[in-house]
Amino acid sequence: MGVFSAAGGAMLKSLLNIIFPDVCPFCEEHEQQGLLCKPCCAELDGLRITGPTCIVCGLPFASQAASDHTCGQCLKQDMPFIEARSAFEYSGNLREAIHRFKYGRRFILARPFGRMLSDFAASFSSKPDIAVPVPLHKKRLRTRGFNQSLLLARVISKRLSIGLDYLNLRRTRETAPQIELNTDERKKNVAGAFEVINPPAFKDRNVLLVDDVFTTGATVKECAKVLKKAGASVRVLTLARAIQK
Ligand SMILES: [Zn+2]
Ligand SMILES: [Zn+2]
Repeated sequence: MGVFSAAGGAMLKSLLNIIFPDVCPFCEEHEQQGLLCKPCCAELDGLRITGPTCIVCGLPFASQAASDHTCGQCLKQDMPFIEARSAFEYSGNLREAIHRFKYGRRFILARPFGRMLSDFAASFSSKPDIAVPVPLHKKRLRTRGFNQSLLLARVISKRLSIGLDYLNLRRTRETAPQIELNTDERKKNVAGAFEVINPPAFKDRNVLLVDDVFTTGATVKECAKVLKKAGASVRVLTLARAIQK
């Protein structure tokens, strides 16, 4: 029975592929080849953050001639994470795709996003042993129905064969959406908004904190602070970084 249904499933899938070829989950327009379509792959390649960056927060430097160094912000303040990296610049098709993923319930995007992030995690100076998504407040979770960072962290934990903990880092209060706020307001908005429920869960762990977009870094910094207090070394991995030009 199991064999029959597996074979039947495969046959149905190939039949459906003839009638409806797999469509690229990014543009939802062209035929998918691998994870995405060819034009989307080319566009994403152009958005990859490859140049010199801050060795702490991952900020890309405008001058391609510079080498990696610590940026002014990170020189001024102690960062609660060891390093933060984003795979891509937050713009173009990717920005729209992230928007659809978060607000349009396009869960299908978790797989390509998570895979790209897993490949990118190789650029960290040491391998993390546990993936932790930036949590949503329970009220936000109820209205959105899912946590996009958890979907990404789940793919990453599977691909990298590392643990996943989405229960012990918690958002203690509801915060205004960061998107409407400036840098200072963002910092205040999330100050003290996270807690670790069971600190021993993170003691001496190499935590990979996962989020979709890094804008000012206020949210991941607050999360990293409480994780560090619990005894973790924290690395931050985000899909995209908003870059002011
Ligand atoms: Zn495409
Ligand atoms: Zn920096």
